[in-house]
Amino acid sequence: MEILSNEVLVLNKLWQVVDVCSVRRALCLLYLRHAQVVLKEGGSFYTFGFEDWRDFSQDHFQDSEIIRTITYKIRIPRVILLLIYDRFPPRRVKFTRKNIYKRDENTCQYCGKKFKPQDLNLDHVVSLSRGGKDSWENVVCSCVPCNLRKGSRTLAEAGMSLIRTPKRPHWRSFVKYSLDAMIEDGWKDFLDLAYWNVELEQNEK
Ligand SMILES: [Zn+2]
Repeated sequence: MEILSNEVLVLNKLWQVVDVCSVRRALCLLYLRHAQVVLKEGGSFYTFGFEDWRDFSQDHFQDSEIIRTITYKIRIPRVILLLIYDRFPPRRVKFTRKNIYKRDENTCQYCGKKFKPQDLNLDHVVSLSRGGKDSWENVVCSCVPCNLRKGSRTLAEAGMSLIRTPKRPHWRSFVKYSLDAMIEDGWKDFLDLAYWNVELEQNEK
């Protein structure tokens, strides 16, 4: 199910944004009681454990927000709050087509124009036939005309250049990407508020 790969924002115990994860992982953490769902309703927010969230999910939601299992349906969380870890272990961003497009912001790395994902290809800067590798440093988004123009030539041979040097993205830049989408959905004020007002745990002596 496509929906299970949607992104969920992950907050730590201090309500700081620490990661994004898939809906699949969020539900797993919820089920294991390692996390709660955070829901914003009007100006208030609520947290739900697994059972509460499941019960809450039985009411009236659009199908796009719901996952059905054999015995019950469950609403897709947008934000979860970790209960057990202070910090999420830093992750490596997976080397996938989707993530390369994300890193390159759907922009051809040769001509610098933005395209719809379906109008872009992946291009090996040094082609495989000339010893190039499948790596973050050697694979970029390219539009079809630039792709054809370059062929298997090197940049120098083709007289072309990259608009920026391709690198492995830091996972934080991917959190930011997801956070921007949440901000558009009106979560920003809420997250700021939570960030400044959550009660900090004191070190007891
Ligand atoms: Zn191009």
